[in-house]
Amino acid sequence: MRKEKKDLISVIVPCYNEEEVVSKYYEEMKKQMQKMGEVDFELIFVNDGSKDQTLEEIKKIARIDKRVRFIDFSRNFGKEAGILAGLEYAQGDYICMMDVDLQDPPYLLEEMYDTLKNEDYDCVASRSISRHGYSFLRKILTKTYYKIINIISKTEIMPGARDFRLMKRKMVDAILSLKEVNRYSKGLFSWVGFKTKWLTFENTERIAGTTKWNFWRLFSYSIESIVGFSLVPLFLSLVVGLIFLFISFIMFIVLFIKGVILDYFINPFTTLSALILFVGGFILLSLGIMSKYLANTYLEVKNRPVYLIRETEKDLK
Ligand code: UDP
Ligand code: MG
Repeated sequence: MRKEKKDLISVIVPCYNEEEVVSKYYEEMKKQMQKMGEVDFELIFVNDGSKDQTLEEIKKIARIDKRVRFIDFSRNFGKEAGILAGLEYAQGDYICMMDVDLQDPPYLLEEMYDTLKNEDYDCVASRSISRHGYSFLRKILTKTYYKIINIISKTEIMPGARDFRLMKRKMVDAILSLKEVNRYSKGLFSWVGFKTKWLTFENTERIAGTTKWNFWRLFSYSIESIVGFSLVPLFLSLVVGLIFLFISFIMFIVLFIKGVILDYFINPFTTLSALILFVGGFILLSLGIMSKYLANTYLEVKNRPVYLIRETEKDLK
């Protein structure tokens, strides 16, 4: 029952200053690729402007193994850019993203592929249930971040989700049809929809080297994702403006009853506060209204597709 053509799995591996781990990663992957003899592989290393010997390490293995391809960036553009470049470069029927530090266990690849082959899913993604190897502060901040983004964004962002996942070609094409420049992959993967199965695994520490994410980098990345996937911050002024206006109206009514109807003495400061709240509220409300137009423009400029198709009768086998 041999098929003439084997499936091709593209594995995208972004690398930034990873000279210590490239060859170790390759050795592990070589074993995994051998185990999965029923498929062909291409390993796409994306060298994201490393300042160490990462590129030389990659070239070394590319010379001896034709399955190894690579893209070398002119400078550091960030992991998101690396992922995008890899997705555009990949030729596979199935496309996988994996960190080079072996924090994403290659053995899961087999289960991911079997699932896509035999079950009705388009993607198998992974999430780690523990966070060994990360500082206490980072664990807390990560948890808070996922709470906030899932409250204010309609796109669900799975807590603990890693970028490690295997996708069918049609899902990758859908992701590539999103042309926005500020990319937050976890959000995009979720936004395009399709059927995703989640596998969980125990997180391990990276085999060598250090994490490339310091506090500020993570912080600005999380702000990026919130701005990219939530319009809530834009409407804050609208809500606060409405609250101010409401309070000032109540104050005016009370002042009117006290001062005009009951003819009591009125402290001028109270009148002034009511006026300030009214003017402030009115300005904030106008800002909020402008935000609505800005939000619409923002969504138009992103130019995301209005819908994406998963299957039609042409896909019936
Ligand atoms: N990475 C990259 N460009 C960057 C930062 C990181 O390509 O600017 C790669 C890095 O080489 C690794 C992956 O992204 O393969 C994840 O990085 P890291 O392990 O430092 O992140 P962590 O596991 O600490 O979240
Ligand atoms: Mg890592």
